[in-house]
Amino acid sequence: MNGDPVDTDLARTWVQAIAAAVDQHKDHLTQLDSAIGDADHGTNMQRGFSAAVTALADYEPDTVGAVLVKTGTTLISTVGGASGPLYGGAFRAIGKALDAPTAPTQQFAAALAAGLASIEKLGAASPGDKTMIDAYAPALAAFQEQADTGADLAAAAVAAADAAEEGMRATTPMQARKGRASYLGARSIGHQDPGATSTALVFRALAETLGVK
Ligand code: ADP
Ligand code: MG
Repeated sequence: MNGDPVDTDLARTWVQAIAAAVDQHKDHLTQLDSAIGDADHGTNMQRGFSAAVTALADYEPDTVGAVLVKTGTTLISTVGGASGPLYGGAFRAIGKALDAPTAPTQQFAAALAAGLASIEKLGAASPGDKTMIDAYAPALAAFQEQADTGADLAAAAVAAADAAEEGMRATTPMQARKGRASYLGARSIGHQDPGATSTALVFRALAETLGVK
């Protein structure tokens, strides 16, 4: 735990940590998507993030943002489902807001906010619609709250990961109003949203990456 900013190596390590988490939880993500979708979320996430790790392997970025823009572009080009453009656009937006070799906590918070804005713009979903936003929005709020009180990145990321997991669990009783799950109407109630679950993995991976530094 320290107050160091995010640098290009850390950004790459974050993407690798997401890929590892997605590998580990692939079957669970697919199982959740088989209940209220088309059973491809684990495969989609694994394909996208493993391609991102490959794309970053021999890439020498000048900025933190370049790592994340490349990640987003790779997700868009390799993932066919709704989550590809949504996550891809979010990572591109986060990256575009981090046009420097390092990013301190407040700047990272602003970048995460740009990521959420991208998801909301593209998917037109709001909190409570049973999507990845229900994990992302509380995670961002928790991260921002920590950043505002002067907390370091690691502490902010832990608070964000905890809030994302709480938000993920809170999707279970919701009725889906966006995406494939919305076709089920009231039958979507009682199942945890796959995208909110993968978003919780993204924030937990950030906390782990920053925590071990
Ligand atoms: P698809 O639904 O095309 O099969 P995935 O299974 O990979 O794509 O991803 C499904 C997840 O995407 C959902 O669980 C939900 O969290 C998220 N999602 C779907 N539509 C939207 C949307 N309009 N806005 C935000 N997130 C969405
Ligand atoms: Mg699906």
